[in-house]
Amino acid sequence: MPRADLVVYNIGELVTFKGGPTARPRPGEAGILRGAAVAIRGSRVVEVGPSSLLRSRYTALEWLDAEGRLATPGLVDMHTHPLFAGSREDEFEAKLSGVSYGEILARGGGIYRTIKATRAASREELLGLLLERLYRMLWGGTTIVEAKTGYALKPRVEVEHLRIISEAARLTPQLVVPTLLAHVPPREGDREAYIEEFRGAIRAAARQGLARYFDVFCDRGAFTPVESRILLEEAWRAGLRLRMHADQLEYLGCSRLAAELRLDSVDHLEVMPPENARVLAEAGSTAGLLPTSIMAMMQAERPPIKAIREAGVPIALGSDYNPNNMTPLVQTALQVAPYILGLTPLEALAAATVNAAASLGLAGIAGRVVPGFRADLVVWDAENYRWLGYEWGYNMALHVVAAGRPALVDGRPVLRPPQR
Ligand SMILES: [Zn+2]
Repeated sequence: MPRADLVVYNIGELVTFKGGPTARPRPGEAGILRGAAVAIRGSRVVEVGPSSLLRSRYTALEWLDAEGRLATPGLVDMHTHPLFAGSREDEFEAKLSGVSYGEILARGGGIYRTIKATRAASREELLGLLLERLYRMLWGGTTIVEAKTGYALKPRVEVEHLRIISEAARLTPQLVVPTLLAHVPPREGDREAYIEEFRGAIRAAARQGLARYFDVFCDRGAFTPVESRILLEEAWRAGLRLRMHADQLEYLGCSRLAAELRLDSVDHLEVMPPENARVLAEAGSTAGLLPTSIMAMMQAERPPIKAIREAGVPIALGSDYNPNNMTPLVQTALQVAPYILGLTPLEALAAATVNAAASLGLAGIAGRVVPGFRADLVVWDAENYRWLGYEWGYNMALHVVAAGRPALVDGRPVLRPPQR
């Protein structure tokens, strides 16, 4: 009898996405199985099949009864800024009382305030905050998470922040994808000298194996397309993979540049001209959409979904967790995507699993429930995938398995941040 460490059985509906990343998720092609089970050995899936068959075939250390519920791949959050100290809840109130972001910045608020608070925090504090956030994400079904730096400002310290991210990654069962982010230039001083210094940080991060991705915020108030190109080309030469914050506030040509450089993921796109969807499709890029960021920014513009769909650009979803958008769960993005972006429930689910994994260069190892892939699984408090977004506003993850280990069972955390 084959042995397994864990068998999740009695799954009413299992969405496997076995066909891989997709620009047009359809129920007939999503690899949906009924009455299924998943056998896991170590951190990998070894078999997916009928529940009755796997129950009689395997001896297992642990059995998890899904009681006829929906199971999907673990959620993949492809865009987060989780390493920061301090908070800005007073600015949230001020914004809603009519104070503009420009005024908030002039008062020393906004991103530069977070940078100040983050610089004042000790390395231990930052690591503790990051771990707390990663585990909260885990209990909400996030089994893979991209984590950006960006609140150090000093390029040398951004590299130190990557070290904190890799330390946290060793203390969670999640797969953490570290990204070096060029977030904003300093308010004063020589921009050219700053870019030069950042190029040095890119090389150092790549040399030390601390980052998998490089990301740049290309927009009004951040880096220009010319500056972004210099940084992206440096990162490409250094061997890092590339992603970009583009076309969030004002169209400066950033998504065009992203397509020209064939970036893995181009994120935000709230003000992208619809005709650029075709260039993104030709470049093979993923559109990273961030519905909770649109809410936090109280923004009226929406990414051109119709054009993105018609061009065949795969859509991925991220939480964009940051001090101005305190939604740690990509599950929340999945739940509101139908309302904010008009995604169908299956489009939203593919965007938060298989397509998000592809946007992180993980298409061949994660984001689907198939043999050989990472054993990341969520059993939902729902009967079928249409409930995701139909019902929302609470954590609907009932059981979470990350790299073969149960992290949440019956809605209760069984894995917690290590006491340090
Ligand atoms: Zn972001």
